[in-house]
Amino acid sequence: MTKEQKALYQEANALKDILIKTLSGRKFKLDCGHHITFGHYLGNDITIYNGKEFKVICSQCGH
Ligand SMILES: [Zn+2]
Repeated sequence: MTKEQKALYQEANALKDILIKTLSGRKFKLDCGHHITFGHYLGNDITIYNGKEFKVICSQCGH
């Protein structure tokens, strides 16, 4: 990876800031049919399949 390419990548904390600000307290139905409440300590973990369109499922269904 070149220095210019490397510079395009932000730190993980920047991603977490976006997730916390956007998702905290919100509830969703996932593609697998399970539910998630973000920012809840007992909430499901999720797996995000990357690509042109995201597919989001809980980590229990993510294998
Ligand atoms: Zn699931």
